[in-house]
Amino acid sequence: MKSAPFKYYVPSEIDEALELLYQLGDEAKILAGGQSLVPMLNYRLLSPANLLDINRVSELKRYSLTDEGLKIGAGVRQREIELSPEIELAFPVLHQALTNVAHVQIRNRGTICGSLAHADSAAELPSVMVALGAQMVIRSGVGDRAVKAEEFFKFHLTSDLEPAEILTEVHVPKLPAKTVGAFEEVTRRKGDFALVGAALLGQWDANGQIQNCRIVCSGVAPVPLRLRFAEDIVNGTDLSDQVLVNVQQSVMDSLDPTEDIHTSSHYRKIVTGVVVRRGLSRLVDQRGAANGSR
Ligand SMILES: Cc1cc2nc3c(=O)[nH]c(=O)nc-3n(C[C@H](O)[C@H](O)[C@H](O)COP(=O)(O)OP(=O)(O)OC[C@H]3O[C@@H](n4cnc5c(N)ncnc54)[C@H](O)[C@@H]3O)c2cc1C
Repeated sequence: MKSAPFKYYVPSEIDEALELLYQLGDEAKILAGGQSLVPMLNYRLLSPANLLDINRVSELKRYSLTDEGLKIGAGVRQREIELSPEIELAFPVLHQALTNVAHVQIRNRGTICGSLAHADSAAELPSVMVALGAQMVIRSGVGDRAVKAEEFFKFHLTSDLEPAEILTEVHVPKLPAKTVGAFEEVTRRKGDFALVGAALLGQWDANGQIQNCRIVCSGVAPVPLRLRFAEDIVNGTDLSDQVLVNVQQSVMDSLDPTEDIHTSSHYRKIVTGVVVRRGLSRLVDQRGAANGSR
């Protein structure tokens, strides 16, 4: 199928893009990598009267890694971040999640911010950004505002963004020393959206106990779901086999995940328990390195 007709705008400055968005209101859609938007246009799930292509706004194409953390502009492709060895070292969990997003060809075009703005509840990057405590920088004609990732995702395919706003950047704060992390997911085929994904972070203390653990799942709810009850079970423990069994059981007992054409709620609940347990096992694997090397 082909999309419905639309007017196409290609601003080269952010202010020009914002002015156009203000004028066109909710009759306009931003085009970033096009990897989610173009299929939706072609299936006529969306038929905006205007498309605003932000790919020539050079200001949005930058990323930086400093002592404060990582800043990723709206024009930065997923693959650019995946291929940076410095970012892989600083944020291994982000790198691992990216390698699970779709296929290389899609990551070559798709942007990090586009995935966040799209807010697909099964996508990897929203849950990773919640786990990392990231902040969204949102700009409109009246200025910038910052929104925590945890508050940005409102529902499946719905974020805090208003029609006249652009998600210009995502900020990921530097991780505390001795942070370990893992991203785990279960998919039917490599490159598919996951049935369930989990981003996990934590710090091993000098007594060999995990602290400040964050467990955030994708695919189980309309927004990235932080499993605080599971975090409470594991924090302050050595993540022994018994703790892992307990947390897996608790996840399976407590969740009531989304049911859709891909799988039942019951199966997804079981898979979530397995994914969380596997992720925690990977934190255990990193205990020695975290305490020895930093
Ligand atoms: C076959 C296939 C498989 C895929 N598998 C996965 C997968 O496994 N996991 C996964 O996470 N993703 C997957 N994707 C989606 C892919 O990651 C997209 O790249 C991503 O969701 C959207 O990024 P984009 O830059 O292409 O955004 P676009 O498609 O250009 O835009 C998506 C939406 O976000 C809005 N938008 C984009 N940028 C901004 C911005 N800066 N400010 C405000 N609004 C904005 C657009 O208006 C649009 O509504 C898949 C895509 C395909 C085609």
